[in-house]
Amino acid sequence: MQIHDKTFLPFLSESEIQEKVQSIAKQLNTEYENKEVILISVLNGAFIFTADLMRHLAFQPEVQFAKVSTYGNAMNSTQKIREVWGLENLSIEGKDVLIVEDIIDTGFTADFLRAEIQKHRPASLSFVTLLFKPDAFQGQYPPEYMGFSIPTEFVVGYGLDYAQKGRELREILVYHP
Ligand code: 5GP
Ligand code: MG
Repeated sequence: MQIHDKTFLPFLSESEIQEKVQSIAKQLNTEYENKEVILISVLNGAFIFTADLMRHLAFQPEVQFAKVSTYGNAMNSTQKIREVWGLENLSIEGKDVLIVEDIIDTGFTADFLRAEIQKHRPASLSFVTLLFKPDAFQGQYPPEYMGFSIPTEFVVGYGLDYAQKGRELREILVYHP
């Protein structure tokens, strides 16, 4: 499939993704039963994963949103925060917080978010990410909950974009150079 000027090939199917989302939800249902949970969905990429995940939860989470952008339109992690939104207004003190991410690559964004969100003094703070690139990861804390470990390649779909396109895809595709 073509997005802008690049070709992408099938990588994770809709059913593989949906099965994984359910199995993550199952884990969370055991660990967070009877807790006051706040999901912080990290825009833009995590909105679809957040929506699917929360509808499989057996508890009633609150959802809040924050935005951190690093990438611009490039296909490589820039390790620079370009835009931050919503972190000042989080209301999470004393709550069990789950940060919901689409993907953790170098871990730079996750480390930044963890430090910022910790300032609001949640009772607990964990990350749940659909995708994780272990070979690219240089962060301090690996995510507590993870869907797929993937190679260090560029993927799109299921919320993830290439230059703002492809987020609506139900599957995940990988860049084919
Ligand atoms: P980090 O390197 O800080 O862990 O990841 C920064 C951000 O880069 C992620 O939140 C995500 O928005 C973006 N990113 C990392 N890898 C990919 C990828 O394979 N595809 C897409 N579309 N975005 C990615
Ligand atoms: Mg992201």
